[in-house]
Amino acid sequence: MKIHEYQGKAILARYGVPVPKGKVAFSVEEAEAAAKELGGFVVVKAQIHAGGRGKGGGVKVVKTVEDAVTAARKILGMQLVTHQTGPQGQKVGRLLIEEALPIEKELYLGITLDRASGKNVFMASSEGGMEIEQVAHDSPEKILKEVIEPGIGLSAYQARKLAFGIGVPAASVNAAAKAMMALAKAYDEIDCSLAEINPFILLKDGRIMALDAKLN
Ligand code: GDP
Ligand code: MN
Repeated sequence: MKIHEYQGKAILARYGVPVPKGKVAFSVEEAEAAAKELGGFVVVKAQIHAGGRGKGGGVKVVKTVEDAVTAARKILGMQLVTHQTGPQGQKVGRLLIEEALPIEKELYLGITLDRASGKNVFMASSEGGMEIEQVAHDSPEKILKEVIEPGIGLSAYQARKLAFGIGVPAASVNAAAKAMMALAKAYDEIDCSLAEINPFILLKDGRIMALDAKLN
């Protein structure tokens, strides 16, 4: 089963992964109220069961409540086509309105089952914001992997090694490692087949956050 980004983020937040402040909106009026509450500098994000929304026109960063309303009007109800939806696209029935954040760096985190070993593998990359399949094809050395031992989980040692490996600055490594361990715990406890945070961001002020969430 696929769930929406905002639902995935609510779950991750419960496990202690930092996520941006945001609200789901089912109408333009709700989008406007959310944008007001968040101060106007927001991201309007289409909630569909497919990725590639950024490139497909389903993610819009705006600076004012007025522009948020314009974006919400445009995106809500549209048939959003991305490279993952097929040519017919998916109808957008809800939006996520989030505070816009000053991004320093986009990273990637993901967990999935490695069929060969039968164990879950935690993947991390400095190349966030791009399709991980593309990174795997073009520069596989940029995807770091750690096997998650069943019954043990991702260890603090493994998480810190991954965080350093993908270029998280020393001052943010503990927070990043903690988020990675939280993601691994969520994946295990809610029985995911895939968990992906792309992008996992480093903010200009050194904080880290899940800017997207894909849980299956
Ligand atoms: P996807 O394309 O469906 O995977 O949607 P994402 O949630 O990953 O968003 C796509 C891209 O939009 C991200 O990689 C970011 O570059 C950009 N984006 C999303 N939220 C923000 C934000 O708060 N601030 C800025 N500056 N960019 C954002
Ligand atoms: Mn994404």
